Amino acid sequence: AAKLKGRNHFCIYEQEMNQANEEALLIENHLRKAIDNNELELYFQPKLDLYTRKINGMEALLRWKSPMFGNIPPDKFIPIAEDTGLIIKIDNWVLEKACVQNKEWNHTCFSTPLRVAVNISPLHFRLPNFQQVVEDVLEKTGLDPQLLELEITENSFIDNIDECIECLEKLRKMGIVVAIDDFGKGYSSLNYLRKFPIQSLKIDRSFIHEVSKNREDIAIVKAITFLAHELNLKVVAEGIETKEVIDILEEIGCDEIQGYYISRPLPKQEFETIYRTWI
Ligand code: C2E
Ligand code: MG
Ligand code: MG
Ligand code: MG
Repeated sequence: AAKLKGRNHFCIYEQEMNQANEEALLIENHLRKAIDNNELELYFQPKLDLYTRKINGMEALLRWKSPMFGNIPPDKFIPIAEDTGLIIKIDNWVLEKACVQNKEWNHTCFSTPLRVAVNISPLHFRLPNFQQVVEDVLEKTGLDPQLLELEITENSFIDNIDECIECLEKLRKMGIVVAIDDFGKGYSSLNYLRKFPIQSLKIDRSFIHEVSKNREDIAIVKAITFLAHELNLKVVAEGIETKEVIDILEEIGCDEIQGYYISRPLPKQEFETIYRTWI
């Protein structure tokens, strides 16, 4: 009976695997057409300077409104896009849209120049011509390179360290800011921190969301902040959901904050409204 049970379990597992694969395939097929069908939209989440409490930038976050599946979160479709290579086309779409939007806003809406941050998939960053791709988009859209920030995760660096440094060096020379996203979540290596020309660390939100209740989290956030400042990097905390967390981060000396407590990611119009009404 035990053997039979084991077998059944295996079958259920296999069935679930097949279902997951079928679902991924279905999503992939629809995602392929999503750009052309106008189903993708950029949302923008404000970033605050913690000292002045002013909006000093925003992160562009992708939303997919699929007629077939409804709203699918990026955590669901980005991995599929990465597995299939579709992410390159998607990231480029995001990059261009974000640059166009930010250029427009800097002309029509913002009273001081603000930077837009765009997430770049490791697959994309590791393309040999990545820096050229960025240069082309900036040329095409006319956005000042200083008003673009790229958010890359630590797994962008798993191999080709020298090529990574070279690419980051070129981006830096262009005036583009690069931030390490989800810092502390992956296989963080302090080695690259001293070698890589980057400008900012975004502490992963898993360390932030309970920082007001958890001594270990405070210790980690303090240590990352200290390290970053000693290395001349800015520290950004993401995932702020309460006032208490803001108070702690202020005490620790974090530079920038981002989170639902300040604002959720918003569609273009609503971002303009929050920018104009923010005091
Ligand atoms: P991320 O780059 O770390 O973006 C931050 C995520 O945290 C966003 O989720 C944002 O909505 C969410 N967030 C912000 N504040 C809070 C908060 O206070 N509490 C909580 N619980 N969450 C908060 P989102 O938009 O669902 O995106 C998830 C991830 O998908 C992003 O993580 C990023 O890795 C990826 N992603 C989103 N847009 C793009 C894109 O255009 N290109 C690429 N390659 N990846 C993207
Ligand atoms: Mg990000
Ligand atoms: Mg993040
Ligand atoms: Mg991320």
